[in-house]
Amino acid sequence: MEFTEKALVLKVGRFREADIWLRLFFAGRGMVTAFAFGGSRSTRRFCGCLDQLVLGTFRVGSNRRGTYKVLEEGTLLHAFPGLRSDPRKLGLVAHCLKFVEAVQVGSQGAQAVFDLLLETLGTLEKSEVGAELLPLLFKAKLTFEQGLKPDLTLCVRCGRPAWDHAGADHEPTQYACASSNLGFSVERGGVVCTSCCDLSFDAQDEPFSIGAVRTLEWIGESRPADWPRLTLAPEMRRQLGRVVDRFVAYHLGLRWENGMYRKI
Ligand SMILES: [Zn+2]
Repeated sequence: MEFTEKALVLKVGRFREADIWLRLFFAGRGMVTAFAFGGSRSTRRFCGCLDQLVLGTFRVGSNRRGTYKVLEEGTLLHAFPGLRSDPRKLGLVAHCLKFVEAVQVGSQGAQAVFDLLLETLGTLEKSEVGAELLPLLFKAKLTFEQGLKPDLTLCVRCGRPAWDHAGADHEPTQYACASSNLGFSVERGGVVCTSCCDLSFDAQDEPFSIGAVRTLEWIGESRPADWPRLTLAPEMRRQLGRVVDRFVAYHLGLRWENGMYRKI
């Protein structure tokens, strides 16, 4: 079965003398591993395409027995020069690519993840997003788009409204207050109200402020183009970082360890 489709190259490796394997993320089908035989010699069929962080149109077939995919041809669309020339941004991009690879998105959720990834790369190429914020934003947004969205309105223990919505009508990008009178239950997947926290604080729950709730809500509604205007106080960043990391570990089974995502 042959197909031609737009993809981003997540990872590239060499094997034998002139052959290359690639892990590609296709807009319509998610991650595919394919072999480019003679790839390091053929500039005509793969002109500039066999490199990490290349957006291209790729024609993919398979070997005669149908046991593996073969890259037949590639056309370069964009190579993100603004990211390649900046080692700091390249480090952030590598983190995002590793996360996409680890999540192993199926064909159903592929288009949303593909769009999110390209918009993230485009935003990062044009502007600055804090190094401590980008992985957090990208991870949270991708997880939410996989249908794993935390409940931020009703308390996950008592079912009542978890916080006073009327009294918190500000842009979350302006929130400085991180005093934690709420909680976040990773196992139950949402916010715990003040009364439930006062009644019995579960040590498994994370302390969580209203500002952090509003920021998580904002992340769910935002697009990567909005991210450069977000600034967070250190304590709020810590709260969100802990919650998002534990949420990803619990619901996607992935933990960041020694520079890579490990299945747990
Ligand atoms: Zn409650």
